[in-house]
Amino acid sequence: LNRRLAEFGTTVFAEMSALAQSTGAINLGQGFPDTDGPEEVREAAVRALRDGLGNQYPPGPGIPELRQAVAEHQQHRYGLTYDPDTEVLVTAGATEAIAASLLALVEPGDEVIALEPYYDSYAASIALAGGARVPVQLRPDAGTGTFRLDLDELRDAVTPRTRLILLNTPHNPTGTVLTRDELAAVARLAVERDLLVVTDEVYEHLVLDGAHLPLASFPGMRERTVTISSSGKTYSFTGWKVGWVTSTPALVSAVRSAKQFLTFVSAGPFQYAIAEALRLPDAYYDDLRASLRAKRALLTEGLAAAGFGVFRPSGTYFITTDVRPLGHTDGIDFCRHLPARAGVVAIPNAVFYDDKTAGSPFVRFAFCKKDEVLSEAAERLARLR
Ligand code: PMP
Ligand code: GLN
Repeated sequence: LNRRLAEFGTTVFAEMSALAQSTGAINLGQGFPDTDGPEEVREAAVRALRDGLGNQYPPGPGIPELRQAVAEHQQHRYGLTYDPDTEVLVTAGATEAIAASLLALVEPGDEVIALEPYYDSYAASIALAGGARVPVQLRPDAGTGTFRLDLDELRDAVTPRTRLILLNTPHNPTGTVLTRDELAAVARLAVERDLLVVTDEVYEHLVLDGAHLPLASFPGMRERTVTISSSGKTYSFTGWKVGWVTSTPALVSAVRSAKQFLTFVSAGPFQYAIAEALRLPDAYYDDLRASLRAKRALLTEGLAAAGFGVFRPSGTYFITTDVRPLGHTDGIDFCRHLPARAGVVAIPNAVFYDDKTAGSPFVRFAFCKKDEVLSEAAERLARLR
Protein backbone atom coordinates (compact mmCIF):
# COMPACT_ATOMS: atom_id res chain seq x y z
CA LEU A 1 0.00 0.00 0.00
CA ASN A 2 1.46 3.36 -0.93
CA ARG A 3 2.28 5.99 1.63
CA ARG A 4 -0.65 8.18 0.69
CA LEU A 5 -3.20 5.49 1.62
CA ALA A 6 -1.36 3.74 4.44
CA GLU A 7 -3.09 5.64 7.23
CA PHE A 8 -6.59 4.70 6.10
CA GLY A 9 -7.06 0.91 6.50
CA THR A 10 -10.58 -0.51 6.05
CA THR A 11 -13.48 1.95 6.13
CA VAL A 12 -15.36 2.06 9.39
CA PHE A 13 -18.61 1.35 7.52
CA ALA A 14 -17.41 -1.99 6.16
CA GLU A 15 -15.96 -2.90 9.54
CA MET A 16 -19.11 -2.06 11.49
CA SER A 17 -21.51 -3.68 9.00
CA ALA A 18 -19.41 -6.84 9.18
CA LEU A 19 -19.65 -6.67 12.98
CA ALA A 20 -23.45 -6.33 12.70
CA GLN A 21 -23.55 -9.41 10.43
CA SER A 22 -21.34 -11.57 12.59
CA THR A 23 -23.09 -10.67 15.86
CA GLY A 24 -26.65 -10.39 14.56
CA ALA A 25 -26.85 -6.92 16.13
CA ILE A 26 -29.21 -4.24 14.80
CA ASN A 27 -27.18 -2.18 12.35
CA LEU A 28 -27.63 1.51 13.08
CA GLY A 29 -24.06 2.07 11.86
CA GLN A 30 -23.65 2.34 8.10
CA GLY A 31 -26.21 4.72 6.65
CA PHE A 32 -28.54 2.81 4.38
CA PRO A 33 -32.30 2.37 4.60
CA ASP A 34 -33.76 -1.06 5.31
CA THR A 35 -36.61 -0.37 2.88
CA ASP A 36 -35.96 0.13 -0.83
CA GLY A 37 -37.06 3.22 -2.72
CA PRO A 38 -40.20 3.68 -4.86
CA GLU A 39 -41.50 0.66 -6.77
CA GLU A 40 -41.89 2.65 -10.00
CA VAL A 41 -38.22 3.61 -9.90
CA ARG A 42 -37.21 -0.01 -9.42
CA GLU A 43 -39.51 -0.95 -12.30
CA ALA A 44 -37.84 1.69 -14.48
CA ALA A 45 -34.49 -0.01 -13.87
CA VAL A 46 -35.94 -3.42 -14.74
CA ARG A 47 -37.49 -1.97 -17.91
CA ALA A 48 -34.17 -0.40 -18.91
CA LEU A 49 -32.37 -3.72 -18.43
CA ARG A 50 -35.02 -5.59 -20.41
CA ASP A 51 -35.22 -3.02 -23.21
CA GLY A 52 -31.46 -2.99 -23.58
CA LEU A 53 -31.11 0.61 -22.40
CA GLY A 54 -27.65 1.17 -21.00
CA ASN A 55 -26.54 -2.45 -21.13
CA GLN A 56 -23.52 -1.33 -23.17
CA TYR A 57 -21.19 1.57 -22.25
CA PRO A 58 -23.30 4.67 -21.79
CA PRO A 59 -21.84 8.06 -22.82
CA GLY A 60 -18.92 9.26 -20.67
CA PRO A 61 -20.69 12.26 -19.08
CA GLY A 62 -23.83 10.19 -18.41
CA ILE A 63 -26.93 9.50 -20.50
CA PRO A 64 -28.55 12.68 -21.87
CA GLU A 65 -31.89 11.83 -20.22
CA LEU A 66 -30.28 11.86 -16.76
CA ARG A 67 -28.22 15.01 -17.36
CA GLN A 68 -31.40 16.73 -18.56
CA ALA A 69 -33.31 15.52 -15.48
CA VAL A 70 -30.54 16.76 -13.14
CA ALA A 71 -30.56 20.18 -14.84
CA GLU A 72 -34.36 20.38 -14.54
CA HIS A 73 -34.15 19.39 -10.88
CA GLN A 74 -31.65 22.19 -10.11
CA GLN A 75 -33.87 24.66 -11.97
CA HIS A 76 -37.15 23.54 -10.44
CA ARG A 77 -35.86 23.25 -6.86
CA TYR A 78 -33.36 26.07 -6.61
CA GLY A 79 -33.70 28.26 -9.69
CA LEU A 80 -30.17 27.28 -10.73
CA THR A 81 -29.64 26.94 -14.48
CA TYR A 82 -27.19 24.31 -15.75
CA ASP A 83 -26.60 23.29 -19.35
CA PRO A 84 -27.13 19.50 -19.38
CA ASP A 85 -24.51 19.10 -22.13
CA THR A 86 -21.63 20.98 -20.55
CA GLU A 87 -22.47 21.57 -16.90
CA VAL A 88 -23.67 18.19 -15.62
CA LEU A 89 -21.58 15.05 -15.12
CA VAL A 90 -22.92 11.68 -13.96
CA THR A 91 -20.64 9.77 -11.59
CA ALA A 92 -20.54 6.42 -9.79
CA GLY A 93 -22.18 7.83 -6.67
CA ALA A 94 -21.10 10.93 -4.80
CA THR A 95 -18.01 9.03 -3.69
CA GLU A 96 -16.58 9.07 -7.19
CA ALA A 97 -17.66 12.67 -7.67
CA ILE A 98 -15.70 13.65 -4.57
CA ALA A 99 -12.60 11.70 -5.60
CA ALA A 100 -12.70 12.92 -9.20
CA SER A 101 -13.23 16.55 -8.12
CA LEU A 102 -10.26 16.47 -5.77
CA LEU A 103 -8.01 14.60 -8.20
CA ALA A 104 -8.94 17.09 -10.90
CA LEU A 105 -8.56 20.28 -8.90
CA VAL A 106 -5.92 19.75 -6.23
CA GLU A 107 -2.17 19.98 -6.94
CA PRO A 108 0.27 18.17 -4.63
CA GLY A 109 0.83 20.37 -1.59
CA ASP A 110 -2.42 22.30 -1.97
CA GLU A 111 -4.45 22.72 1.18
CA VAL A 112 -8.05 21.55 1.31
CA ILE A 113 -10.24 22.83 4.12
CA ALA A 114 -12.83 20.32 5.32
CA LEU A 115 -15.36 20.50 8.12
CA GLU A 116 -14.38 18.16 10.94
CA PRO A 117 -15.83 15.62 11.61
CA TYR A 118 -15.49 14.83 7.90
CA TYR A 119 -17.01 12.01 5.87
CA ASP A 120 -14.28 9.37 5.66
CA SER A 121 -13.75 9.45 1.90
CA TYR A 122 -12.79 13.14 2.01
CA ALA A 123 -9.52 12.47 3.82
CA ALA A 124 -8.62 9.58 1.53
CA SER A 125 -9.46 11.51 -1.64
CA ILE A 126 -7.49 14.55 -0.50
CA ALA A 127 -4.57 12.22 0.22
CA LEU A 128 -4.84 10.50 -3.17
CA ALA A 129 -4.68 13.92 -4.80
CA GLY A 130 -1.54 14.69 -2.80
CA GLY A 131 -3.29 17.52 -0.97
CA ALA A 132 -3.05 18.44 2.70
CA ARG A 133 -6.27 18.40 4.70
CA VAL A 134 -6.98 21.32 6.98
CA PRO A 135 -9.85 20.45 9.32
CA VAL A 136 -12.11 23.13 10.74
CA GLN A 137 -14.06 21.71 13.62
CA LEU A 138 -17.80 21.87 14.12
CA ARG A 139 -18.17 22.22 17.87
CA PRO A 140 -20.98 21.21 20.21
CA ASP A 141 -23.05 24.25 21.08
CA ALA A 142 -24.96 24.00 24.34
CA GLY A 143 -27.43 26.72 23.33
CA THR A 144 -28.74 25.00 20.19
CA GLY A 145 -27.89 21.40 21.11
CA THR A 146 -26.20 21.05 17.73
CA PHE A 147 -22.69 21.18 16.26
CA ARG A 148 -21.85 24.62 14.79
CA LEU A 149 -19.24 26.08 12.51
CA ASP A 150 -17.09 28.90 13.88
CA LEU A 151 -16.77 31.28 10.95
CA ASP A 152 -13.68 32.96 12.40
CA GLU A 153 -11.96 29.59 12.58
CA LEU A 154 -12.87 28.94 8.97
CA ARG A 155 -11.50 32.32 7.96
CA ASP A 156 -8.29 31.71 9.90
CA ALA A 157 -7.80 28.34 8.21
CA VAL A 158 -7.41 29.97 4.79
CA THR A 159 -3.78 30.43 3.76
CA PRO A 160 -2.09 31.31 0.44
CA ARG A 161 -1.87 27.55 -0.17
CA THR A 162 -5.60 26.93 0.22
CA ARG A 163 -6.97 25.55 -3.02
CA LEU A 164 -10.52 24.81 -2.02
CA ILE A 165 -13.06 24.33 0.72
CA LEU A 166 -14.79 20.97 0.84
CA LEU A 167 -18.19 21.70 2.33
CA ASN A 168 -20.96 19.33 3.40
CA THR A 169 -24.49 20.42 4.25
CA PRO A 170 -26.61 18.75 5.57
CA HIS A 171 -23.62 17.41 7.42
CA ASN A 172 -22.72 13.79 8.04
CA PRO A 173 -22.27 12.72 10.88
CA THR A 174 -23.58 15.65 12.99
CA GLY A 175 -26.85 16.34 11.16
CA THR A 176 -26.01 20.04 11.17
CA VAL A 177 -27.57 22.10 8.39
CA LEU A 178 -25.65 25.29 7.74
CA THR A 179 -27.88 28.36 8.05
CA ARG A 180 -28.37 30.99 5.39
CA ASP A 181 -26.05 33.35 7.28
CA GLU A 182 -23.36 30.71 7.64
CA LEU A 183 -23.52 29.82 3.96
CA ALA A 184 -23.45 33.50 2.99
CA ALA A 185 -20.31 33.92 5.10
CA VAL A 186 -18.66 30.91 3.46
CA ALA A 187 -19.58 32.37 0.07
CA ARG A 188 -18.13 35.80 0.95
CA LEU A 189 -14.92 34.18 2.13
CA ALA A 190 -14.60 32.09 -1.04
CA VAL A 191 -15.12 35.13 -3.24
CA GLU A 192 -12.79 37.34 -1.19
CA ARG A 193 -9.97 34.75 -1.21
CA ASP A 194 -10.75 33.47 -4.70
CA LEU A 195 -11.33 29.87 -3.58
CA LEU A 196 -13.19 27.04 -5.20
CA VAL A 197 -15.75 25.20 -3.11
CA VAL A 198 -16.65 21.57 -3.61
CA THR A 199 -19.94 21.09 -1.81
CA ASP A 200 -21.33 17.67 -0.94
CA GLU A 201 -25.10 18.04 -0.83
CA VAL A 202 -26.12 14.36 -0.96
CA TYR A 203 -28.59 14.99 1.88
CA GLU A 204 -30.27 17.90 0.08
CA HIS A 205 -33.68 16.23 0.31
CA LEU A 206 -33.19 15.14 3.91
CA VAL A 207 -33.43 18.59 5.48
CA LEU A 208 -35.92 17.90 8.27
CA ASP A 209 -36.17 21.42 9.75
CA GLY A 210 -36.20 24.30 7.27
CA ALA A 211 -35.17 24.13 3.63
CA HIS A 212 -32.02 23.16 1.75
CA LEU A 213 -29.97 26.08 0.45
CA PRO A 214 -27.44 25.12 -2.20
CA LEU A 215 -24.17 26.99 -1.86
CA ALA A 216 -24.12 27.61 -5.62
CA SER A 217 -27.16 29.89 -5.22
CA PHE A 218 -25.22 32.48 -3.19
CA PRO A 219 -23.75 35.58 -4.87
CA GLY A 220 -20.52 34.89 -6.71
CA MET A 221 -20.73 31.14 -6.10
CA ARG A 222 -22.26 29.72 -9.28
CA GLU A 223 -18.91 30.05 -11.07
CA ARG A 224 -16.70 28.72 -8.26
CA THR A 225 -18.76 25.89 -6.84
CA VAL A 226 -18.68 22.21 -7.74
CA THR A 227 -21.95 20.79 -6.41
CA ILE A 228 -22.17 17.07 -5.72
CA SER A 229 -25.29 15.06 -5.12
CA SER A 230 -26.42 11.48 -5.41
CA SER A 231 -29.50 9.34 -5.76
CA GLY A 232 -28.57 6.98 -2.94
CA LYS A 233 -30.05 8.91 -0.04
CA THR A 234 -32.82 10.76 -1.89
CA TYR A 235 -34.37 7.69 -3.49
CA SER A 236 -33.25 4.99 -1.04
CA PHE A 237 -31.20 3.00 -3.53
CA THR A 238 -27.75 3.30 -2.03
CA GLY A 239 -26.58 0.22 -3.95
CA TRP A 240 -27.13 1.78 -7.37
CA LYS A 241 -24.33 4.32 -7.08
CA VAL A 242 -25.66 7.05 -9.33
CA GLY A 243 -24.34 10.48 -8.45
CA TRP A 244 -23.69 13.73 -10.26
CA VAL A 245 -21.75 16.95 -10.39
CA THR A 246 -23.08 20.33 -11.51
CA SER A 247 -20.74 23.24 -12.16
CA THR A 248 -19.30 25.43 -14.90
CA PRO A 249 -18.20 23.88 -18.21
CA ALA A 250 -14.52 24.30 -17.26
CA LEU A 251 -14.89 22.69 -13.83
CA VAL A 252 -17.15 19.89 -15.08
CA SER A 253 -14.67 19.18 -17.86
CA ALA A 254 -11.84 19.03 -15.32
CA VAL A 255 -13.74 16.60 -13.10
CA ARG A 256 -14.61 14.53 -16.14
CA SER A 257 -10.92 14.27 -17.04
CA ALA A 258 -10.37 12.44 -13.76
CA LYS A 259 -13.63 10.47 -13.83
CA GLN A 260 -12.88 8.95 -17.24
CA PHE A 261 -9.90 7.10 -15.79
CA LEU A 262 -11.57 6.08 -12.55
CA THR A 263 -14.67 4.32 -13.88
CA PHE A 264 -14.83 5.63 -17.48
CA VAL A 265 -18.64 5.54 -17.23
CA SER A 266 -21.22 4.67 -14.59
CA ALA A 267 -23.70 1.75 -14.76
CA GLY A 268 -26.22 2.36 -17.57
CA PRO A 269 -29.68 0.99 -16.65
CA PHE A 270 -29.72 2.72 -13.26
CA GLN A 271 -29.14 6.05 -14.96
CA TYR A 272 -32.42 5.63 -16.86
CA ALA A 273 -34.22 4.77 -13.65
CA ILE A 274 -32.80 7.74 -11.74
CA ALA A 275 -33.73 10.07 -14.61
CA GLU A 276 -37.32 9.02 -13.88
CA ALA A 277 -36.85 9.29 -10.13
CA LEU A 278 -35.76 12.92 -10.47
CA ARG A 279 -39.19 13.66 -11.93
CA LEU A 280 -41.14 12.25 -8.96
CA PRO A 281 -43.77 14.71 -7.70
CA ASP A 282 -43.06 16.99 -4.73
CA ALA A 283 -45.24 14.72 -2.59
CA TYR A 284 -42.54 12.05 -2.75
CA TYR A 285 -40.03 14.30 -1.02
CA ASP A 286 -42.59 15.52 1.50
CA ASP A 287 -43.43 11.94 2.43
CA LEU A 288 -39.77 10.99 2.71
CA ARG A 289 -39.11 13.86 5.10
CA ALA A 290 -42.28 13.24 7.12
CA SER A 291 -41.31 9.62 7.56
CA LEU A 292 -37.77 10.53 8.60
CA ARG A 293 -39.02 13.15 11.07
CA ALA A 294 -41.08 10.47 12.80
CA LYS A 295 -38.06 8.14 12.85
CA ARG A 296 -35.86 10.89 14.22
CA ALA A 297 -38.37 11.40 17.05
CA LEU A 298 -38.52 7.68 17.77
CA LEU A 299 -34.76 7.18 17.97
CA THR A 300 -34.12 10.49 19.76
CA GLU A 301 -36.54 9.46 22.47
CA GLY A 302 -34.98 6.00 22.74
CA LEU A 303 -31.44 7.34 22.97
CA ALA A 304 -32.36 9.99 25.51
CA ALA A 305 -34.23 7.43 27.63
CA ALA A 306 -31.17 5.17 27.50
CA GLY A 307 -29.10 8.02 28.93
CA PHE A 308 -27.20 9.29 25.89
CA GLY A 309 -26.61 12.98 25.33
CA VAL A 310 -28.45 13.65 22.07
CA PHE A 311 -27.65 16.32 19.46
CA ARG A 312 -30.70 17.16 17.41
CA PRO A 313 -30.04 16.70 13.67
CA SER A 314 -31.76 19.19 11.35
CA GLY A 315 -30.90 17.03 8.37
CA THR A 316 -29.50 13.64 7.24
CA TYR A 317 -30.67 10.41 8.83
CA PHE A 318 -28.06 10.35 11.57
CA ILE A 319 -28.11 11.30 15.23
CA THR A 320 -24.85 12.10 16.97
CA THR A 321 -24.81 11.28 20.67
CA ASP A 322 -22.49 11.89 23.59
CA VAL A 323 -21.65 8.75 25.58
CA ARG A 324 -20.19 10.59 28.59
CA PRO A 325 -23.51 10.70 30.47
CA LEU A 326 -23.37 6.88 30.31
CA GLY A 327 -20.00 6.94 31.99
CA HIS A 328 -17.88 6.37 28.85
CA THR A 329 -15.29 8.62 27.27
CA ASP A 330 -13.99 6.53 24.36
CA GLY A 331 -16.56 6.19 21.56
CA ILE A 332 -14.42 3.74 19.58
CA ASP A 333 -14.21 1.39 22.54
CA PHE A 334 -17.90 1.95 23.27
CA CYS A 335 -18.89 0.98 19.69
CA ARG A 336 -16.63 -2.05 19.68
CA HIS A 337 -18.45 -3.46 22.71
CA LEU A 338 -21.96 -2.24 21.92
CA PRO A 339 -23.01 -5.32 19.85
CA ALA A 340 -22.13 -7.65 22.74
CA ARG A 341 -23.53 -5.36 25.44
CA ALA A 342 -26.71 -4.25 23.73
CA GLY A 343 -27.05 -5.93 20.31
CA VAL A 344 -26.74 -2.65 18.42
CA VAL A 345 -24.10 -1.34 16.03
CA ALA A 346 -23.19 2.37 15.85
CA ILE A 347 -20.34 4.42 14.36
CA PRO A 348 -17.75 6.20 16.52
CA ASN A 349 -17.43 9.79 15.25
CA ALA A 350 -13.75 9.79 16.25
CA VAL A 351 -12.94 8.09 12.94
CA PHE A 352 -14.04 11.32 11.21
CA TYR A 353 -11.63 13.47 13.21
CA ASP A 354 -7.92 14.27 13.02
CA ASP A 355 -8.36 15.54 16.55
CA LYS A 356 -9.26 12.17 18.11
CA THR A 357 -9.60 13.67 21.58
CA ALA A 358 -12.28 16.08 20.42
CA GLY A 359 -14.19 13.34 18.59
CA SER A 360 -13.81 10.68 21.24
CA PRO A 361 -17.09 10.95 23.19
CA PHE A 362 -19.37 11.07 20.15
CA VAL A 363 -21.19 8.16 18.56
CA ARG A 364 -23.50 8.18 15.54
CA PHE A 365 -26.74 6.22 15.10
CA ALA A 366 -28.67 5.95 11.82
CA PHE A 367 -32.46 6.21 11.93
CA CYS A 368 -33.29 5.24 8.31
CA LYS A 369 -34.73 1.96 9.55
CA LYS A 370 -38.20 0.48 10.01
CA ASP A 371 -40.05 1.82 13.05
CA GLU A 372 -40.13 -1.60 14.70
CA VAL A 373 -36.35 -1.91 14.24
CA LEU A 374 -35.82 1.48 15.87
CA SER A 375 -38.14 0.54 18.74
CA GLU A 376 -36.33 -2.74 19.27
CA ALA A 377 -32.96 -0.92 19.20
CA ALA A 378 -34.27 1.59 21.75
CA GLU A 379 -35.40 -1.23 24.04
CA ARG A 380 -32.02 -2.90 23.80
CA LEU A 381 -30.14 0.34 24.45
CA ALA A 382 -32.31 1.01 27.50
CA ARG A 383 -30.59 -1.97 29.16
CA LEU A 384 -27.33 -0.03 29.15
CA ARG A 385 -28.47 2.07 32.08
N1 PMP B 1 -21.03 12.12 1.04
C1 PMP B 1 -21.63 11.93 2.21
C2 PMP B 1 -21.65 13.05 3.20
C3 PMP B 1 -22.20 10.70 2.52
O1 PMP B 1 -22.77 10.51 3.70
C4 PMP B 1 -22.17 9.67 1.57
C5 PMP B 1 -22.77 8.33 1.86
N2 PMP B 1 -23.87 8.19 1.06
C6 PMP B 1 -21.54 9.91 0.34
C7 PMP B 1 -20.99 11.14 0.12
C8 PMP B 1 -21.42 8.86 -0.70
O2 PMP B 1 -22.52 8.81 -1.54
P1 PMP B 1 -22.67 7.68 -2.64
O3 PMP B 1 -23.21 6.48 -1.96
O4 PMP B 1 -23.60 8.27 -3.64
O5 PMP B 1 -21.33 7.43 -3.22
N1 GLN C 1 -22.63 7.40 3.72
C1 GLN C 1 -22.94 6.28 4.53
C2 GLN C 1 -22.68 6.59 5.99
O1 GLN C 1 -22.18 7.63 6.35
C3 GLN C 1 -22.16 5.04 4.20
C4 GLN C 1 -21.46 4.98 2.91
C5 GLN C 1 -20.37 3.95 2.94
O2 GLN C 1 -20.55 2.88 3.45
N2 GLN C 1 -19.24 4.31 2.43
O3 GLN C 1 -22.98 5.75 6.79
